[in-house]
Amino acid sequence: MPEIPESSPATTAFEAEYAIESPLSCPHCKATISTLQVLRLVRTRVNFISMLPRRGYVVVCSSCHQILSADLGGFARVV
Ligand SMILES: [Zn+2]
Repeated sequence: MPEIPESSPATTAFEAEYAIESPLSCPHCKATISTLQVLRLVRTRVNFISMLPRRGYVVVCSSCHQILSADLGGFARVV
Protein backbone atom coordinates (compact mmCIF):
# COMPACT_ATOMS: atom_id res chain seq x y z
CA MET A 1 0.00 0.00 0.00
CA PRO A 2 1.35 3.46 -0.88
CA GLU A 3 1.84 5.71 2.08
CA ILE A 4 -0.35 8.80 2.15
CA PRO A 5 1.63 11.80 3.39
CA GLU A 6 -0.06 13.33 6.42
CA SER A 7 1.09 16.78 5.40
CA SER A 8 -1.29 16.85 2.42
CA PRO A 9 -4.71 15.60 3.58
CA ALA A 10 -6.47 17.34 0.67
CA THR A 11 -4.75 15.05 -1.81
CA THR A 12 -6.46 11.73 -2.43
CA ALA A 13 -4.16 8.89 -3.43
CA PHE A 14 -6.28 7.32 -6.14
CA GLU A 15 -5.27 4.24 -8.07
CA ALA A 16 -6.76 5.15 -11.43
CA GLU A 17 -8.57 7.95 -13.16
CA TYR A 18 -11.22 7.46 -15.83
CA ALA A 19 -12.51 9.99 -18.34
CA ILE A 20 -16.28 10.33 -18.64
CA GLU A 21 -17.59 10.31 -22.19
CA SER A 22 -19.22 13.69 -21.63
CA PRO A 23 -18.99 15.93 -18.53
CA LEU A 24 -21.47 15.24 -15.73
CA SER A 25 -22.57 17.07 -12.60
CA CYS A 26 -21.44 15.60 -9.27
CA PRO A 27 -24.46 15.01 -6.96
CA HIS A 28 -22.42 16.12 -3.94
CA CYS A 29 -20.50 19.26 -4.92
CA LYS A 30 -22.50 20.06 -8.10
CA ALA A 31 -19.26 20.62 -9.98
CA THR A 32 -19.13 19.59 -13.62
CA ILE A 33 -16.58 16.80 -13.79
CA SER A 34 -15.07 14.98 -16.75
CA THR A 35 -13.09 12.37 -14.80
CA LEU A 36 -13.74 9.91 -11.99
CA GLN A 37 -11.13 8.49 -9.65
CA VAL A 38 -11.08 4.89 -8.50
CA LEU A 39 -9.58 3.68 -5.23
CA ARG A 40 -9.09 0.10 -4.16
CA LEU A 41 -10.72 -1.35 -1.05
CA VAL A 42 -8.68 -3.89 0.87
CA ARG A 43 -10.33 -5.84 3.68
CA THR A 44 -8.55 -5.28 6.98
CA ARG A 45 -10.86 -7.02 9.47
CA VAL A 46 -13.39 -9.76 9.00
CA ASN A 47 -15.81 -11.90 10.98
CA PHE A 48 -14.75 -15.59 11.01
CA ILE A 49 -17.83 -16.68 9.05
CA SER A 50 -17.89 -13.75 6.62
CA MET A 51 -18.45 -14.56 2.94
CA LEU A 52 -17.54 -11.04 1.82
CA PRO A 53 -14.79 -10.70 -0.79
CA ARG A 54 -11.29 -9.57 0.14
CA ARG A 55 -11.24 -6.63 -2.23
CA GLY A 56 -13.40 -4.05 -3.86
CA TYR A 57 -13.24 -0.49 -5.09
CA VAL A 58 -14.85 2.89 -4.68
CA VAL A 59 -15.50 5.49 -7.36
CA VAL A 60 -15.10 9.07 -6.19
CA CYS A 61 -15.70 12.53 -7.63
CA SER A 62 -12.43 14.02 -8.93
CA SER A 63 -13.44 17.41 -7.53
CA CYS A 64 -14.74 16.80 -3.97
CA HIS A 65 -13.60 13.16 -3.47
CA GLN A 66 -17.03 12.13 -2.17
CA ILE A 67 -17.91 8.49 -2.81
CA LEU A 68 -20.21 8.04 -5.81
CA SER A 69 -20.20 4.24 -5.94
CA ALA A 70 -18.62 1.28 -4.17
CA ASP A 71 -18.34 -2.35 -5.17
CA LEU A 72 -17.12 -5.51 -3.43
CA GLY A 73 -16.30 -7.82 -6.29
CA GLY A 74 -19.86 -7.65 -7.56
CA PHE A 75 -21.15 -8.83 -4.15
CA ALA A 76 -22.44 -5.56 -2.76
CA ARG A 77 -23.01 -2.26 -4.44
CA VAL A 78 -23.77 1.16 -3.02
CA VAL A 79 -24.64 4.16 -5.15
ZN1 LIG B 1 -18.05 16.24 -6.27
